[in-house]
Amino acid sequence: MKRNLFTNFKQIDKKGLWSLVVEDGMIRVVEGQSELNISNQSSSNVYDLHGNYLLPSFTDAHMHLSLYATLFSAVDLRECSSMKALQDKLRAEKNREVIIGWGFDHEKFQEERMPTRIDLDSVSSEIPIFILRFDEHIGVVNSEFLRRLKIDRNTKEPEGGKIGRFSDGLPNGILVDNALPTQKLLNNPRIKDSMLNNFLEVQKELLSKGLTSVSDMGIDFDTLDFYRQMEIKGYLKMRVHIYLDEKCLADKNRIKTEMQRNVQSLVQVRGLKLFVDGSFGASSGALYEPYADDPENKGILRIQPDRLKHLTRLADELGMQLSIHAIGDKALTYTLDALTETRNELLRHRIEHLQLVNEEHLDKLKQLGVIAVIQPVFVATDSPWAEKRLGSERVQQSYPLKRIIDKGIRVAGSSDCPVTEADPFLELYFSVSHKNLKGKEMPDWVKRERIGIKEALKIFTKDASYALHENKGKIEEGMLADFIVLLENPLQLTLEQILSLRVLQTYLGGELVVSKQPSP
Ligand SMILES: [Zn+2]
Repeated sequence: MKRNLFTNFKQIDKKGLWSLVVEDGMIRVVEGQSELNISNQSSSNVYDLHGNYLLPSFTDAHMHLSLYATLFSAVDLRECSSMKALQDKLRAEKNREVIIGWGFDHEKFQEERMPTRIDLDSVSSEIPIFILRFDEHIGVVNSEFLRRLKIDRNTKEPEGGKIGRFSDGLPNGILVDNALPTQKLLNNPRIKDSMLNNFLEVQKELLSKGLTSVSDMGIDFDTLDFYRQMEIKGYLKMRVHIYLDEKCLADKNRIKTEMQRNVQSLVQVRGLKLFVDGSFGASSGALYEPYADDPENKGILRIQPDRLKHLTRLADELGMQLSIHAIGDKALTYTLDALTETRNELLRHRIEHLQLVNEEHLDKLKQLGVIAVIQPVFVATDSPWAEKRLGSERVQQSYPLKRIIDKGIRVAGSSDCPVTEADPFLELYFSVSHKNLKGKEMPDWVKRERIGIKEALKIFTKDASYALHENKGKIEEGMLADFIVLLENPLQLTLEQILSLRVLQTYLGGELVVSKQPSP
């Protein structure tokens, strides 16, 4: 049996100094420093934490780990504030065979419009170019990429997707949701080759930010195999929770076999990811009433209600946990309807994002015992334009956080990385703060949904872990021994200080995986 001893640490909500014993990756004993007789404890390692704070490490209940790793070497367009800036950034990459850019936000452009293929053709008409908006629901390709995708005047819209067109009917290069080539790109062998190095970089970054449990939403078996290989070769140093995409349902036996491997593995095959609609940023979230700034448009349903019911039933029967993306009010109603006959509490079914929620929705969520997976940081990216999209009345019910928690519904915190940065301290800040990062007051509909710091810590530790079927997130006997060590107590800091908090050490199952100091 492997036994590690941790001594001389503080806890954020308790007085005095503490010690604990980890056996085979689990917390066995937690006691006051003076009560635990260290000399009685035979142990492999003793970690003296020098009076620093020991906390549960963070969990991100919804992110796209493999996409983030893939985009790690793509052109970063997040800071572009004009079409020209975007073009210049892409132009600098003309030695690549395919140019992929990600993270742009046309709402930030001086020109206040989406790029089209014409804007990208002026970068190159020979190299295929694909750029993806930060929310991953809308992208633009140049004419060469369109040609390779075989999309022309006669191409029909795919179900749950949109092909943008100029007034003469020719495609303008803008592709929405199911029309996007994202999955095809992920499966491109040359892009896959860069995955290993990128993944190791990304893993280091996430661990150093105190994340030990993450997720990969909506992936295929190939990507699952990649993680299995990472674990077998000893590269994997965190818990990765897998939510397979809809296509995987074609191989039910494989799903069963993969889920049976969960017992002894860092890779945990949890469930199924479904998309019911798009996003507000791409004006594709499914609404009852049209978009305030686009009166003909009520968004996109990517799965029709009957099919949604069929798929949820199927997944539930297989014992898969459901993770259902529903942003608009209509998408949320359909999703809740589909979850009325499933085993919600047992399998911990979850709904992702929930960005327009009325009282009926809240009642139903509570009644069904479904988990709400929220990204508190989305108010930072979306609050500048949400009112324009939804109108001044509807926006009052948008981006809920406190309303859901107050109702007694369990909320799991997440980043949706790479949609936003996977930085738990940034997430804590936006869960609590009434101001954006520039110190500007946020609108009232954002402010009244903010929560306290203790609650914020809980949704990014214990409750996010609950959503991943993990027994962790508390310094308590019987929990997984995943910790971080901090110099200061986040409960006693200002919000600005929380933003600049840095993790000194991260432990996975009681073993040190990242240290900013020489190991003790
Ligand atoms: Zn997502």
